[in-house]
Amino acid sequence: MKKTFSVIGITLAIIGFLYSGVHIFGTTAKFIEHHSLESSVKKLTNEKDKKTAELAAVTKKNADVKAQYQKLKADKKIKTVYLTFDDGPSGHTDQILEILKKNNIKATFFVIGIGKNFKDYKKITDQGHAIGLHSFTHEYKKVYANEDSFFKEFYQIRDAIKSTTGQDVKIIRFPGGSSNAIASKALKTAIINRLTREGFVYFDWNCDSTDASGNNVPVAKLVKYGICTTHSDINVLMHDTNAKKTTVQALQQIIDGYKKAGYTFETLNVNSPKIQHVKQPEMN
Ligand SMILES: [Zn+2]
Repeated sequence: MKKTFSVIGITLAIIGFLYSGVHIFGTTAKFIEHHSLESSVKKLTNEKDKKTAELAAVTKKNADVKAQYQKLKADKKIKTVYLTFDDGPSGHTDQILEILKKNNIKATFFVIGIGKNFKDYKKITDQGHAIGLHSFTHEYKKVYANEDSFFKEFYQIRDAIKSTTGQDVKIIRFPGGSSNAIASKALKTAIINRLTREGFVYFDWNCDSTDASGNNVPVAKLVKYGICTTHSDINVLMHDTNAKKTTVQALQQIIDGYKKAGYTFETLNVNSPKIQHVKQPEMN
């Protein structure tokens, strides 16, 4: 009997010893695990703080440069004009390119697709000018039928340009401008939001040469309205179509007017000043 008790006692002691051993081991393992997690979190937190500080420094530098640029602009030391030609290419494109070349300046062409020789897009880009999207057909009823129709038009012209120039164009001009009355407000908002999501930037104008008001608008009128020196950034609306002969005739005088007023000529890109009639939300 006594022996049996002893055996039970020893067994219990062994079990107790093993249990506490396992318990101590478990606790230690947990402690080590916790400790290494804690140091990982600390390391990551330090890295995050470092990156946040770096980002803040870059953001500040960016803001400083922008502020300096704005100050220079405000002092009127930098004045920029963006000459834009819509609806081309046309039988006048070569003449327009020739005038630009002679003046050693660059412009932006918002082109369409229907009835065009796609190879003409390359003529424009080969000479260092910017090319932008202006829909494929330019038929308001089609372009503004609905959101999908609008994007179909723009993807179509984008693809046509890409296949001939290799450029994936992100700048666009709405047919009729962003403030056109053809598209409803709801449709326009949907289009603008999607354009923004997809990285497109649209450009309107703050100087209308009035060459869309009719064909053969007198040169004197185009020159009068095509030279605007009220802002330090000017986006001039002109057209490159077979019917706009006087635009070509007025072009040299318009260029001279800007040169005389101290403007430099630039091409549009996604970072250019957003001269927009309906404001686009900021991209993230
Ligand atoms: Zn147009």
